[in-house]
Amino acid sequence: MLDAPVLVLIDLEDQAGACAPTGPALELLTAARRLSGDVVALCLRAPDAPGAAAIAGAGASRLLVAELGDRSALAADAADAVVAAARAVGPGAILVVSDYRGKELAGRASVLLGSVAVSDAADLEEVDGELRASKLVLSGSWSTTVSVAPQAEGTPIIALRPGAVEAEAQPGAAPLEAEALAVEPAAETAAVELVSRESASAATGPALGEARTVVVGGRGVDGDFDLVRSLAEPLGAAVGATRVACDEGWIERSAQIGQTGETISPRLYISLGVSGAIHHTSGIQGAGTIVAICDDSEAPIFEMADYGVVGDVTEVVPQLVEELERLRG
Ligand SMILES: Cc1cc2nc3c(=O)[nH]c(=O)nc-3n(C[C@H](O)[C@H](O)[C@H](O)COP(=O)(O)OP(=O)(O)OC[C@H]3O[C@@H](n4cnc5c(N)ncnc54)[C@H](O)[C@@H]3O)c2cc1C
Repeated sequence: MLDAPVLVLIDLEDQAGACAPTGPALELLTAARRLSGDVVALCLRAPDAPGAAAIAGAGASRLLVAELGDRSALAADAADAVVAAARAVGPGAILVVSDYRGKELAGRASVLLGSVAVSDAADLEEVDGELRASKLVLSGSWSTTVSVAPQAEGTPIIALRPGAVEAEAQPGAAPLEAEALAVEPAAETAAVELVSRESASAATGPALGEARTVVVGGRGVDGDFDLVRSLAEPLGAAVGATRVACDEGWIERSAQIGQTGETISPRLYISLGVSGAIHHTSGIQGAGTIVAICDDSEAPIFEMADYGVVGDVTEVVPQLVEELERLRG
């Protein structure tokens, strides 16, 4: 275990009137608990009481709140807050979620702290006082492990991929008293103006990068994303797509998975009418179980699938949905 605290940047989401930590943020707290007995949570706005209880229940022993308002979405502002918290707490490591903002702020904060950043980590452990972070590189064909010594290289910032760790609650946690953290934004940060902010209108269900289950539609669904959603909804899954499906305008570009789209690591990935081109599969190397439904038995997706169905999606998917309904009564 590290003999210094681990600082964790906690993203909050508004759901049904509540302001609570996101699933990936709770995963970070579990990862932090495995590194140190002292876990400090940093929020960029105040969570509500159940949100603070969830943060305590996931293992944080302190809660810092830097009130950034809407600017918390900007990597530069978030990085300034992380740096201010690091100076206040003196952590042995800092964990953030490896999404677009997390990766950018990790790089920026590590420069400001004179330390190192590792992004896209899929695994993280402490060995003899050093941190070892593993990540997939070269389109997922190699796994590499980097080792960082916090004493020698300053406080490392690790951006951990959603789904890398299973969040575990810690029973009997004491409630946390939020401590206000003052953040003095750097001149470069203040020079950036937030013009507007809106969520993608077409997004429904869980966010693609955070979802435990993802159902993906390819060219084989022939534009019928209602078919994809008919399976995604009962599974509580996010809907993804291949580039072809996005190029065709069947779904918004943000749903694209692969080399030039999102990298995902769900527990379960189900593809419908996807051939499995390397440009697509490089984005799913961190997936747990892979299920493919495709009418071409020679399609490369079957080489990496744990379960495969050779068949027409318009016939197989309705049967699958019916079976799910039957099993759930
Ligand atoms: C530089 C570069 C970057 C790229 N980046 C990405 C990326 O980020 N993400 C990405 O996805 N692609 C990317 N691509 C494109 C990629 O190479 C493939 O063209 C694309 O992934 C193929 O998509 P697909 O599987 O939907 O289509 P196809 O390869 O055409 O496969 C469709 C499959 O569906 C099957 N099918 C057809 N009808 C049915 C049916 N009724 N039922 C069941 N199966 C059916 C077909 O037999 C076929 O196997 C990139 C390409 C380049 C050059």
